[in-house]
Amino acid sequence: LPADFQAALPVLEEIEKAGYEAYFVGGSVRDHILGLPIHDVDIATSAYPEEIKSIFKRTVDTGIQHGTVTVLIGDDSYEITTFRTESGYQDYRRPDKVTFVRSLEDDLKRRDFTINALAVDIHGNVIDKFAGLKDLDKKTIRAVGQAEARFHEDALRMMRAVRFQAQLNFKIEDKTAQAIADNAPLLEKIAVERIREEFVKMMLSNSWQTGLADFIKLSLSEYCPGFQAQKEALTELLQVPGEKFADEEEAWSAIGYVLSLNHGEFNKLLRDWKVSNKTREVSLNTLNMLHLFENQDFDLWNIYKLGVDNLTRTIKLCQMFKEEFDYQALQEKVAKISIKSSHDLAITGKDICEILEVKPGPIIGKSMSQIERAVVEGNVSNNFSDLRHYLLSNQ
Ligand code: ATP
Ligand code: MG
Repeated sequence: LPADFQAALPVLEEIEKAGYEAYFVGGSVRDHILGLPIHDVDIATSAYPEEIKSIFKRTVDTGIQHGTVTVLIGDDSYEITTFRTESGYQDYRRPDKVTFVRSLEDDLKRRDFTINALAVDIHGNVIDKFAGLKDLDKKTIRAVGQAEARFHEDALRMMRAVRFQAQLNFKIEDKTAQAIADNAPLLEKIAVERIREEFVKMMLSNSWQTGLADFIKLSLSEYCPGFQAQKEALTELLQVPGEKFADEEEAWSAIGYVLSLNHGEFNKLLRDWKVSNKTREVSLNTLNMLHLFENQDFDLWNIYKLGVDNLTRTIKLCQMFKEEFDYQALQEKVAKISIKSSHDLAITGKDICEILEVKPGPIIGKSMSQIERAVVEGNVSNNFSDLRHYLLSNQ
């Protein structure tokens, strides 16, 4: 067993000692077999939540109505979920009813893909009821059971398919892919936040272009905010050099770029996807700069306001989309900017009061901004006597 499983092993053994079954399940098993790093270890058990709580001293009811209890041991915590079945997905989203069951197989049956429906017992044996190991070996994403029915139960699974495809660089099996193509409109039933979570995970993956290609081809894109009738434009993203996006903002900016959105349109798209305000602001700013840089318009003040992080992001996008991008010219401009922020100015508000012989007030802020811009644009050097002189002669 890998180290992450070893650490949790005493917890599983404790449950088994009390007469119940306990297994490692889900993504951690999949990633372990693939030799990938494991983030969170999921544990499933035949014990009901109340039974888990009676076995361990310190527990937290994390999601007890879904059967999840967190067990605390020392500084570590383990999420333990009772085997369950789900039924009555009337709205193509969450089940109406969760039923706790004692059978591992029933629990594995409700899981989305065969590669996510594997379990490992305390001895390290893999329980593989749906040929998940074979699919791992063949790098295939295949729905557990009837794909069509599984996407009717929960349409988000279609987004999860392309997300795993991008993360693992797997292929979606034909019937599963066909069921996605046939049922893509059901995506409209899903809360945009949940779609976004999968979409962003996909875009930030190593093989994002593989996932995105099927996201477009299987028409999932048609049912996402701002992507209707944009298959062709989105496909442009598949043509750029296969670099990874460093963060969400980089990915959104690239999308805004290929969709040729103006500021207002891009703002609306980001709002419709319900991205955070910070992500929205950074992405809008990046796209603005991208358009300026595209025309080799390296305005010093704009570059300065953009900040180093955003600058790196914009440059990377320029290089993605513009082969002839003049990086040298930009570097030369950037090197000319002598301060990083107004804190680096060789003059303070207090100095300005004294020089101008005025009391603190709005005039100080105004003078400060004026000086800041003059320094950035190279119209005055950043030393006290020059700044003093500049201040007195620009009143
Ligand atoms: P990640 O590496 O992103 O954590 P994961 O496979 O662990 O991937 P989670 O969303 O953490 O994915 O879910 C844990 C497990 O629960 C999955 O492996 C799968 O077995 C099951 N699961 C999660 N979401 C669904 C769903 N919408 N439908 C069916 N099964 C699901
Ligand atoms: Mg997980």
